[in-house]
Amino acid sequence: MNLKDTYRHKGLRRKLIASIREKGITDERILQVMETLPRHFFLDKAFEELAYEDRAFPIGNEQTISQPFTVAYQTQLLNVKKRDKILEIGTGSGYQAVVLAMLGGRVHSLERQESLYHRAKKMIELLQINNIRVYLRDGFRGLPELAPFDKILVTAGASDVPENLKEQLAVGGLMVIPVGPREVQKMLRITKVSEKKYETETFGNFRFVPFLKGINRS
Ligand code: SAH
Repeated sequence: MNLKDTYRHKGLRRKLIASIREKGITDERILQVMETLPRHFFLDKAFEELAYEDRAFPIGNEQTISQPFTVAYQTQLLNVKKRDKILEIGTGSGYQAVVLAMLGGRVHSLERQESLYHRAKKMIELLQINNIRVYLRDGFRGLPELAPFDKILVTAGASDVPENLKEQLAVGGLMVIPVGPREVQKMLRITKVSEKKYETETFGNFRFVPFLKGINRS
């Protein structure tokens, strides 16, 4: 990893943010955070030149850092408020978790791949961001001991909406989750309107790496 942020990186980032804005992201706070946060910190040196293209990239263990547009899109749907207690499923590189923390969220992020968990944890420590906790856990179970959450964000493609996660939402809280078969998922936003009642809104198509069960210790 390279923790130097040069004028060149900043220039590339400005262009990336302009293109995301053109693709329909309107929340200026999100655009500002993404313009500030160096995405190349979260990628292998081999991808440094490409870090500011609007693409997903491999981060090891067959996983990817989400495309910047997708990060912005999910974050916008999540409507983050300062001090929101947020559960993220799929820490991956840690980039999305840091975006949520920079928006003022108190972030709890779960990852099932041990090596990614260690790497993201280290990066978050290096960046001295203290409103994120990462856990080596299976996201299907959520984090019951800290529930309820104001927001839940799932960054892997699920075949359906896990009941456990719905239950861990606060009343008035919402979850953003891509749901569908492996090839393509629809972005859903589920609002918990009362203890037993949920409302679902459906947005566009995306393609995420799969939401898998269990922990992988390699
Ligand atoms: N938010 C990440 C995107 C990573 S891709 C980022 O900003 O880089 C999705 C991640 O979800 C992968 O790292 C994958 O290992 C993880 N994942 C998949 N199923 C999971 C589960 N059941 N519990 C926790 N993490 C899971």
